[in-house]
Amino acid sequence: MWSCQECTDLYKAMKQAPEVVDAARAESEPGVDCDPFDTVVSSQIHLARHIATRHTAEVPAMDQGCDRCKSDMTREMPVVLVLEHRARHVFAPPSIAGLL
Ligand SMILES: [Zn+2]
Ligand SMILES: [Zn+2]
Repeated sequence: MWSCQECTDLYKAMKQAPEVVDAARAESEPGVDCDPFDTVVSSQIHLARHIATRHTAEVPAMDQGCDRCKSDMTREMPVVLVLEHRARHVFAPPSIAGLL
């Protein structure tokens, strides 16, 4: 996936998202929601969806240590959503992947 320009761009956007949000937060009044569009979360979703649909062969198998992976196996989930979640394991630690 790292030879893919779109993956690289999406990954960079995901990595930069917290900095962009922090910069906005530093410049505004306390209590203002500087990330109304959930930039950080949505940038992770964009990358996961791209990997799930374009790089399906690179999506890892279910992670035995991830509750979300295990529950996906017992529920009737659309395949694309299962792949999208597992794709997050490629770039997010299990503690974060399980929340998405
Ligand atoms: Zn790609
Ligand atoms: Zn998982």
